Amino acid sequence: MEGHFDIAAGQAKLAELQNEATTEGWRATLNSAAPGFDEWIVGAIFGGTYQREGLTARDRQLLIIGALTALGGVEPQLRGHFETSLRIGMTHEEISESLIHLVPLHRAAAGDGSAAPHAHTNRRDGERRHYPVREVIRTVLGEVDPADAGIVDSHDHLFLSTPLLPGEELADTDDAMTETLDFARRGGRTLVQWTPRGLGRGLPALRSISETTGVHIVAATGRHRRGVYPSGAPEFDLTVGQLADTFIDDIGTNGCGLIKVGISYEEVTADEGDSLRAAAIAHHATNAPIAVHLERGSAADLVLDFLLDESVPMNSIVLGHLGKNPDPDRIAEAAQSGAWLCLDAPSPRNPVSIEELSRTLGRLIEGGHSSQLLLGADTTTRSGSRPVRSAYGPAGLVDQVAPHLIRALGADALAGIMVGNPARAWSVRV
Ligand SMILES: [Zn+2]
Repeated sequence: MEGHFDIAAGQAKLAELQNEATTEGWRATLNSAAPGFDEWIVGAIFGGTYQREGLTARDRQLLIIGALTALGGVEPQLRGHFETSLRIGMTHEEISESLIHLVPLHRAAAGDGSAAPHAHTNRRDGERRHYPVREVIRTVLGEVDPADAGIVDSHDHLFLSTPLLPGEELADTDDAMTETLDFARRGGRTLVQWTPRGLGRGLPALRSISETTGVHIVAATGRHRRGVYPSGAPEFDLTVGQLADTFIDDIGTNGCGLIKVGISYEEVTADEGDSLRAAAIAHHATNAPIAVHLERGSAADLVLDFLLDESVPMNSIVLGHLGKNPDPDRIAEAAQSGAWLCLDAPSPRNPVSIEELSRTLGRLIEGGHSSQLLLGADTTTRSGSRPVRSAYGPAGLVDQVAPHLIRALGADALAGIMVGNPARAWSVRV
């Protein structure tokens, strides 16, 4: 064994392991960040550690692939080490076998991201403290730990004004405050408002309501389908890129936590394709979930195909109103995608009976989809809001709908639908 620091030996070793361009690339990056550091790496690591006996070059590559894969988020380094592995004589098969072997150990499978029911327990235990990745729910008052989301109304509107529902505008801050207080008194903790840009979503009022009531409020950016807006709405004068920028800005600076897109009955129009594309761009920039209004529960397959083409992961897509589709087979088919399924409680605009709702939920649970289910009151009209009609609204969801569903489906199922699932659905990695 040579000495512990040997630049010449390091350079020779590097020539075996990497092509010249790769070596020059990382050396230049390191040298510009900390002059001379690259030389230390060459001498100490490649001229030192790599010169030690006891492990073969292949052993060393397997260790590195294992560590980088388990660490996650270091794909460029991993790709570089795949190249090195091939250079030293490992086969493609050995590399893919080592990745398969690592699958159960990867953080995404072992308890990270939205697929992991125990991720929050881990965080409380402090086990994840050394990871640079956190999960948060973005609310109008800032980031909230998903473990604090509590009982969640996953789809609602405290504010909504559209010419489609004349005289029914939800635009009164006092009413919204009363409604939210009522929700909080019954144990409600988080409310997700799906009102996108241009429909009177009331961001400043949402902040003051959240401050006063203590209820976490998740607000939406995004764009509904054209028919919901007044004619000439400026939201439709934007290119896809400009639209994506407004979404990103809403998330980064205006406290929005989801991207809402509205789709027409059984079709995705050109406008709506642009909305989905812009939503995908904004998702990739922010990780924010994309919540889709499916008109009467239709077109889930078209929307999912579209977002799949844009590489949006299924666990970042929330399908709204799916339960309104009269065909249970189409609901089951959409559920197979793995996307979140957000169903609506009975309301004046959703004349489903509570029995029908629990049957739909029951079928989805039997089909193995209990971990994808969400529920919201989806209050869209003044005459359907809690201060007017006591059975409806976010508070009605907690004190009328939830007890019925607990009797029909069991307390565990409902805890999933209103607490565990939404904590994951509305959280993002930051
Ligand atoms: Zn809605």
